[in-house]
Amino acid sequence: MAKMRAMQVPRPNGPFELVEREIPEPGAGTVRVKVEACGVCHSDVFAKEGLFPGIQYPRVPGHEVAGVIDTIGPGVESWKVGQRVGIGWHGGYCFYCNPCRHGDFINCSKMKICGLSYDGGYADYMIAPVTALALIPDGISPVEAAPLMCAGITTFNALRNSGARPGDLVAILGIGGLGHLAVQFAVKMGFKTYAIARGKEKEALAKKLGAHHYIDTQSQKIADELQQMGGAKVVLSTITNSKATQEAMPGLSINGKLLIVGAAPEPLEVPPMLLIRGKRAISGWASGSSIDSEETMSFCSQTGVRSMNEVFPLERAAEAYDLMMSGKARFRAVLTTGN
Ligand SMILES: [Zn+2]
Ligand SMILES: [Zn+2]
Repeated sequence: MAKMRAMQVPRPNGPFELVEREIPEPGAGTVRVKVEACGVCHSDVFAKEGLFPGIQYPRVPGHEVAGVIDTIGPGVESWKVGQRVGIGWHGGYCFYCNPCRHGDFINCSKMKICGLSYDGGYADYMIAPVTALALIPDGISPVEAAPLMCAGITTFNALRNSGARPGDLVAILGIGGLGHLAVQFAVKMGFKTYAIARGKEKEALAKKLGAHHYIDTQSQKIADELQQMGGAKVVLSTITNSKATQEAMPGLSINGKLLIVGAAPEPLEVPPMLLIRGKRAISGWASGSSIDSEETMSFCSQTGVRSMNEVFPLERAAEAYDLMMSGKARFRAVLTTGN
């Protein structure tokens, strides 16, 4: 049997291990993908630390996968060997549960998550259900596609479904892995875009990404700056710090919405009157289905939105992961297999 490399986590909170495994064969309704690139996402912490119920170990993380269909499983229609595909967090749905019957695939009660429910993209090959496949457009390279499969789709889909309209003030909290994409998307969608981060030195990056204004939380009050402009129709929080997210809430306009995509561990404190007066709302957003991923990549191909990546070979997954967790990675860490 032919072998492949995989970077597996042997047990919850265990170290990354480089192992040799047999190349897996696709079952019914799945394809085998030869992985070219895989992004390192903060949510890989769920696989690495065992923070998600029901994960079986050893587990290969990775849900920002870009590669090529290598073999088709039984019963698979309309996908072909050689097609370039991506797989994101949303790793497949069942078609039978009530949310699926409503067409609400992201809320499938049996939803699979790539790199948690099954082995993900920190490997030379992986098996993916066809419901998880997104076609990568010609103009997007594997390293460019990978981060779009989670960081990209999450922020793109959150913004395009936020209710904000072109010309509205939209504020992006944080300009890291998700935020630096969110700022570009907001600008290209025609929103008056405020980027918010800590420190004067981030201003140049915010402007480079196209932000119309920058708020430095070290020297400025978010709420005051936003309210001077009538408040933000949407504040998209990409950070994992609830205290800092709270400070942006009084910057919402009437009927404004705080949209949360950054999974902070600690709870959010909200003054109820802030919500009642002005009918403000808070909601979360989780990625999207495979067609949303495809539309994200297509939008990026049309508009030039790209993730800024730091590339590591697969074997250096631990280093890439530690850099991402340290918060010191300025951009997205992406693993490449050399395939
Ligand atoms: Zn992710
Ligand atoms: Zn379902």
